[in-house]
Amino acid sequence: MDRLQLLYDLDLAGLTSLMQEWGEPAYRASQVWQGQYRNLWVIPEQFTSLPLPLRTKLAEVFLFSSLHPAQEFVSQNGETHKTLFRLHNGDAIETVLMRFRKRRTLCISTQSGCGMGCVFCATGQMGLQRSLSAGEIVEQVLYYARKLAVVNEKVTNVVVMGMGEPFHNYEATLAAIRRLNHPAGFNLGARRFTISTVGLVPMIRRFTEEDHQINLAVSLHAANDELRSALIPINKKYSLDVLIAACREYVAKTHRRITFEWALIRDLNDSRSHARQLADLVQGMTCHVNVIPLNPTQRYAGQATTMERAREFKLELESRGIPCTIRIRRGIDIAAGCGQLAIQA
Ligand code: SAH
Ligand code: SF4
Repeated sequence: MDRLQLLYDLDLAGLTSLMQEWGEPAYRASQVWQGQYRNLWVIPEQFTSLPLPLRTKLAEVFLFSSLHPAQEFVSQNGETHKTLFRLHNGDAIETVLMRFRKRRTLCISTQSGCGMGCVFCATGQMGLQRSLSAGEIVEQVLYYARKLAVVNEKVTNVVVMGMGEPFHNYEATLAAIRRLNHPAGFNLGARRFTISTVGLVPMIRRFTEEDHQINLAVSLHAANDELRSALIPINKKYSLDVLIAACREYVAKTHRRITFEWALIRDLNDSRSHARQLADLVQGMTCHVNVIPLNPTQRYAGQATTMERAREFKLELESRGIPCTIRIRRGIDIAAGCGQLAIQA
């Protein structure tokens, strides 16, 4: 079955040329854009700034939205919400909202599943179904923006840490962020976004060249190749020496701080000596390390570290001048924690 094109898949330039093609004045493009990204309109009837014939034509040619919320989950303390969306072809993704103090942080997906196969990650365990389009990525944010608007709140931060490897879907991910960042629309500052990558070196280099204001996080989890390759198969292709060189280049060229993610797995990568190994690896780089006790997943036997060992790990890094934050595990009662997103077939 042919599928209508998703309106969110057009950026402002795309809308402008569409209006030109249809013989409409150029300002109609801005009206559509503002309707979508400022007013958060989502059904054709809401676009009252447009003449009815144009609205009708748009609705005939385009899908105004494509994500169908299939299930919603709320954590016991009410801080974390998760939505399971069905995509138009039946594939599924999950999006998570974390409310913490004044922050309203969304954790969004860039793929249904993931092809990177990290052994500790539930998304990796399900394999890759498909990559999302820019519009499908954008829609996750607008869905929650609408929900928050009802209670007079706004999305303050977006972390690209949901399902999928964003740098394996580079174009769409960056296009989505550009769209959400646009001053005439949603206008969320580039610094409010963080992309987390498993370490696809060519894409880290490209990201460096493009010199974005978006924050970059790299999932490290091990500071020697033997252990990292056992946890993260892509390390066999991009080993630590090339990965760290690309990270150093990113910091040198952009003058930005880089974040390293480290899931602490009991007795595997959580000792003081592992912390020392990490300190040696990143010595001298402007960076920050986020450690999080592993979230348990069904097909991985590894356990979370203890808080005591997490604190020791942090102290060891700090004694070497490397700032480290212990991340609190959120939403694990609704399987909304890092690496827990997975759709049961
Ligand atoms: N693919 C990207 C982003 C999605 S995963 C990446 O790998 O960076 C987001 C973060 O969750 C990554 O740092 C990832 O390593 C981490 N993660 C995956 N499984 C986890 C688990 N079971 N417990 C804790 N963190 C996990
Ligand atoms: Fe994919 Fe990231 Fe999970 Fe690895 S940790 S399988 S890259 S989502």
